[in-house]
Amino acid sequence: MLDYEFTEEQEMFRKNLREYLQKKVQPHLHEMEKREEVLPEIIKAMADFELLGPCVTEEYGGPGMDMVMAGIIGEELGRNDPTASTAVFYLVDASWSHVFCRYGKEEGKKEILPDVCKGKKYCGIATTESEVGSDLANMKTTIKKEGDHFIVNGDKNYISGVREAGKLGGGHVTLARQDLAAGTHGMTLFFLPLKDNPGITITTDKELGREGMSTGGFNINKVKLPSKYIIGEENKGFYIVHEGYELARGIIACVCVGAAMKSLENGMAYIKQRKAFGRPIGKYEAIQFQLAEDYTKLQFVRDWAYKALHYFTKEAREGAKIRMLVSKYIAMAKMYAPLWAFDAINHSMQWQGAFGYTWECPDVKAFRAIRSFTLAEGSTEIMHLIIARELLGKEFIAYK
Ligand SMILES: Cc1cc2nc3c(=O)[nH]c(=O)nc-3n(C[C@H](O)[C@H](O)[C@H](O)COP(=O)(O)OP(=O)(O)OC[C@H]3O[C@@H](n4cnc5c(N)ncnc54)[C@H](O)[C@@H]3O)c2cc1C
Repeated sequence: MLDYEFTEEQEMFRKNLREYLQKKVQPHLHEMEKREEVLPEIIKAMADFELLGPCVTEEYGGPGMDMVMAGIIGEELGRNDPTASTAVFYLVDASWSHVFCRYGKEEGKKEILPDVCKGKKYCGIATTESEVGSDLANMKTTIKKEGDHFIVNGDKNYISGVREAGKLGGGHVTLARQDLAAGTHGMTLFFLPLKDNPGITITTDKELGREGMSTGGFNINKVKLPSKYIIGEENKGFYIVHEGYELARGIIACVCVGAAMKSLENGMAYIKQRKAFGRPIGKYEAIQFQLAEDYTKLQFVRDWAYKALHYFTKEAREGAKIRMLVSKYIAMAKMYAPLWAFDAINHSMQWQGAFGYTWECPDVKAFRAIRSFTLAEGSTEIMHLIIARELLGKEFIAYK
């Protein structure tokens, strides 16, 4: 890395966290998959180590960590849990509690954030709808001011953590259109409580992986929203929401690297002992070349992700005016991390022969989980568009 390396404190934190996760979270993972739920024991263990709402500042009950530390947690959770359910629970919660903390209103923050950090409430993100994902400006959900409160109508779909917020408490940082004639300049961001909210109906989808974590939707029918839940200025939500997406994308890159490195380690252990044609498979060049290439790619993207998160910290904590540089660097990490991690895991499964295709093989879980990250929190294609926009200029945005 050119101008960034881990501090002693960060290295020590990583070491302690890895041991802690093995001891306190690993033993519950099998049950989590079976019950398809991030168990209360796991949430408590994560909260006890201050892994929930890591970037929330101390006055709102968080540890006030920087974005690099948030990435380290993501990488270690990715290593520890091949289903990535705990990593998803963590990274969504971490990114959107950060946005709430930075831009939310005092009353709303004091009410919600301390519980998010204790694992008593969930904090998700809801921008996607049944008919709109990448193209946020065309969403249908609306928010309308009525006196001292707001009325929200619409629906959100393919949203992580709907069951968690509906059961545990909390809700989703949500984007909706307020000034219908103003496109992206007329969108407002707010926190929408899901639990015991009479206007909210939750549905869940069955997905390819991430067994512990729910994905689904919610219908929003004339929900009355107090103004304490508005995040940032009205009609400026489209611009604020990207900050949460960028933190999530940076952490996702770290999660992908953690999961894929672990998978390569599993594969390496296998090819060292498994013999074919009288020798360990690991002696064959075809396998060694794949291993060398996958490992190198993962190291590249890992360095890049932490570099991007380092710049994110400089911007969010030290006020550096580098918003677009952060966007570009984060997009570069998120563009390749899921693809390269997916390839590495796929190769590791192949090295493990028929065993690598069984439900017993942990890499199969990682294979299914990591696939989600080419879409979640912004697709691979959208990462290309962001990088090209920064290189060519806004006048080259294809859809404008
Ligand atoms: C497991 C999972 C969890 C998710 N969790 C959440 C969540 O918590 N909150 C939330 O709000 N959303 C969530 N999403 C939704 C995710 O953000 C969207 O899937 C993503 O933004 C893409 O939107 P879409 O699925 O509507 O695809 P679309 O936007 O309809 O796009 C379809 C395909 O076309 C590509 N495409 C679109 N525009 C272009 C273009 N200009 N050039 C080239 N290609 C293009 C896309 O990349 C995609 O591959 C989740 C998705 C998944 C799979």
